[in-house]
Amino acid sequence: MSWGFERGKIYNRKQDIHAKFGGQEQGGIISPRQHNIVIIITGPKGRAHGYADRERADGVFEYFGAGREGDMQMTDRNKAIFEHSKRSKSLLAFEEAGKNLRFKGEYVLEGFHYEQSPDEAGAMRRAIVFELRPIENIEEVVDTSDEAANNTDLSALRTTAIAAAQPTAPGTQTIVNAYQRSRAVKTYVLRRANGHCEADGVAAPFLRANGEPYLEPHHILRVSDGGPDDIHHVIALCPNCHRRAHHGADATTFNNSLIEKMKEIEPN
Ligand SMILES: [Zn+2]
Ligand SMILES: [Zn+2]
Repeated sequence: MSWGFERGKIYNRKQDIHAKFGGQEQGGIISPRQHNIVIIITGPKGRAHGYADRERADGVFEYFGAGREGDMQMTDRNKAIFEHSKRSKSLLAFEEAGKNLRFKGEYVLEGFHYEQSPDEAGAMRRAIVFELRPIENIEEVVDTSDEAANNTDLSALRTTAIAAAQPTAPGTQTIVNAYQRSRAVKTYVLRRANGHCEADGVAAPFLRANGEPYLEPHHILRVSDGGPDDIHHVIALCPNCHRRAHHGADATTFNNSLIEKMKEIEPN
């Protein structure tokens, strides 16, 4: 569930999107001014305009920016996608389903690259291809089956995690960066928790195969300044608290309490 949308369910653009959030009624990118949300649409209509959106093998969704002719520019709606994390806006994707839209899920911008591709008129131009990671993948529990945590001290892990959490730019190896970033942040957060749930202080319920206490990293904000992983927005939870944060009747209240807790855990 994101903003009331359920994955796989069919929605009507006019009634379910524009009536609730406003935004541009034409085009595949909707960036309502009044709501912290950016909506992108993918599907066959876009392909006719030279937008070759595709799923990458590592789970990243590659989404072509807007611009029917000539080089694409990082302005307007493309900028809305580029800055969604920075502006704390959720990025929601839909795919065309006949006259309606099917909710595909919530994503986080991981990077982008340029690519030569034909525009609507068939002329080659520079396209912007956004690299979007499903939000669930970002929170996947890292299996720390090795080295890291035991050998480095906390402040060194913290420095590494902060350094890794820089947004990526064209030309960088985004796959590696995203992986390293997630890993560095989670390694630090789990070490920071020191074997206890950061919500209720309960000891980790069991040890991992490698002997480390089992806790789960949870993102208290769905998007955060500085990209998807930021030590200020990731909290280590026991499995009970983690399920509660996602599925509890009081999930919103509970998450808000975690946001408050994080202010003490990571001031600045
Ligand atoms: Zn979570
Ligand atoms: Zn807990």
